[in-house]
Amino acid sequence: MTDKADLAKRTIADFLDRNAPAFAKLSDSLFYFSELGMQEHRSAKLMGDLLEGHGFSVDRKPSGFETGFVARYGRGRPVIAIHTEYDANPGNSQQSGVDEPREIVAGAPGHCEGHNVNAACMVSAALALKQAIDEHEFAGEIRIIGAPGEEQLISRPYYVRDGLFDDVDIALHPHILDEFRSDFGLIQAAAVSVDFHFSGRSAHAAVAPWDGRDALDAVILMDSGMAQLREHMMPGLTMHRVVTHGGEQPNVIPARASVWWYFRGPTAESVDPLFARARDVAKGAALMTGCEVETSIRAAVWPVLLTEKVAEVIQRNIDAVGMPGWTEGEQDFARRLQRAAGKPEIGLRPAITPFSGPAQQISASNDCGDISWKVPMGRLWFPANVPHIPFHHWAGGAALATSIAHRGGLAGARVLAGTVVDYLTDPALVEEARTSFRSCIGDTVYHPLIPLDQIPPRSLNAGLMERYRPAMEAFYPAGEPVFT
Ligand SMILES: [Zn+2]
Repeated sequence: MTDKADLAKRTIADFLDRNAPAFAKLSDSLFYFSELGMQEHRSAKLMGDLLEGHGFSVDRKPSGFETGFVARYGRGRPVIAIHTEYDANPGNSQQSGVDEPREIVAGAPGHCEGHNVNAACMVSAALALKQAIDEHEFAGEIRIIGAPGEEQLISRPYYVRDGLFDDVDIALHPHILDEFRSDFGLIQAAAVSVDFHFSGRSAHAAVAPWDGRDALDAVILMDSGMAQLREHMMPGLTMHRVVTHGGEQPNVIPARASVWWYFRGPTAESVDPLFARARDVAKGAALMTGCEVETSIRAAVWPVLLTEKVAEVIQRNIDAVGMPGWTEGEQDFARRLQRAAGKPEIGLRPAITPFSGPAQQISASNDCGDISWKVPMGRLWFPANVPHIPFHHWAGGAALATSIAHRGGLAGARVLAGTVVDYLTDPALVEEARTSFRSCIGDTVYHPLIPLDQIPPRSLNAGLMERYRPAMEAFYPAGEPVFT
């Protein structure tokens, strides 16, 4: 590490220590907003305003995403991007700091994984970096990217398709966990999310059923065909579905019915043949019932591939920052939460996780996969939730506005900003990342899986959010985060 990098990291540590209350306010505000994907209006405004107020130039509608933002600071090369998500999940309203299921607003959306802390980590790191860039006069640009709708795999493939990463040298993704670590290799799956809409002809179900062409029958027959297909899928592929529309009432033969499928696989190429066979099954079901079928892709993402050399730089910064020294009160809360969730009562992790890899690929996906095939990408897992607590479960939300989330997220911001400083001050590291990335992807050429003319689904989750927002507003924290 150069002297300049060392001094910059001191500036960053001072900035983050001084602004710990602002970090908590930002993270908690996002927690109480609990906005669903594509409806993150307040969250995006709060963060866009903060960054703009500190001198970043902010694009408030990248690729047409009204709840996304891209904030830029600095000039020249390298260009280091940080991107993360800040969406909540439906039906996961949960009070923070209690060790039992207790909703904030009955039935409302809630953060139950910690995307609120992801975003607070990213924005705080950006503000700290801005101060370091000003004081120590680095060349290079930091690009802070707000990514809507992660839970439904929405925004980042559009950003890549539309060129936001064309001139990026390194991309970094902070994500909450209970561990402090970085890994590399293929870690998450490719996915295509598709609606199959069947249309037939309605008729009175008792008086003239022979006149009807039943779209729900087509959905059921498709389901049956897919159950047979399951036996013949390549290992590693998975698929799952929900019926999103099945008619209105039994005495009317449904003229319309829809089913929503996810297809997942270890590589981008592996998912396409499965989707093609599913399309044939759907056509067969339509033929059998005298219906028509249309498919529409909701989202499509590449698997996440993390570059080894970027992971090493992140890990060196984790080693330098170290695990937060958890208080006895925090440990006690963690153990009580683990007991309530029926998990081993091990408390919070006392130490960082040593570097190892490559990671084991899991069958879940993240919409940042496309970025990881376009440019070298690293992921920072920071320790701001309780070990063994499941995501998307009441217990996953119980620590998210406590000092565990605040202190773990702040430690994450320090590592994230420190990693960026390393890349801004040492061109050899950027070159090393590029070489490592090229050897990882081999001869694979990235191309977007979403159609080239696809536009963002702006009204996704709008009805659900409108229904609950008025009751949730009563719990929004007073005042705004102020970073100095
Ligand atoms: Zn997540």
